[in-house]
Amino acid sequence: MVLTEEQKKARKKEANRKYRENNTEKIREQRREYNKKNKEKAREYDRKYREDNKEQIRETQRLWREKNTEKKREYDKKYREDNKEKKMEYDKKYREDNKEQINEKKRDFYKNNKEKMKEVKRAYSKTDAGIKSRITKTWKHRGLVDNFDKVYERWEYTLFCDLCRCDLDQCTKSVKCMDHDHANGLFRNILCRSCNVKRG
Ligand SMILES: [Zn+2]
Repeated sequence: MVLTEEQKKARKKEANRKYRENNTEKIREQRREYNKKNKEKAREYDRKYREDNKEQIRETQRLWREKNTEKKREYDKKYREDNKEKKMEYDKKYREDNKEQINEKKRDFYKNNKEKMKEVKRAYSKTDAGIKSRITKTWKHRGLVDNFDKVYERWEYTLFCDLCRCDLDQCTKSVKCMDHDHANGLFRNILCRSCNVKRG
């Protein structure tokens, strides 16, 4: 039987395919060997391939991500966990190297979102966390050096003046005073305004 060129080609192709199928490990090993020997060349080739097929690769990756959302999320999570230290260091260095630029961006952002930022701040100031932040900030400013969480908890749940026992709830909130030792900055008592003024 005489084979036509077409048939010869097809036969060769089929034989090659079979060979590849039966020798995946071997071929992979050969490729690894080759790449090891030609690392630089391979790297250059890889770089060029990626450069030339940017769009296609991006599309392939996009499709893969779409099909593997869960997997991708898990992978990202694991990657972040494994590289926490590295990332923190990188971020720190980035911030240091780009201080001016970042500040500029921040300024621009505030300028362009003035009203929105005001609204966000206003909303935050009405939350429990916002109230706590505002009050503890004034304490810090006045020189309190203590466990702010603990002092705030005491301040929040104290209903009567520690000295005269008057009902603090009858007054407005500003009348409830955090009294601290001015010498060492440590918290002393929750007092009504009158007791606080007397103590000085
Ligand atoms: Zn009092």
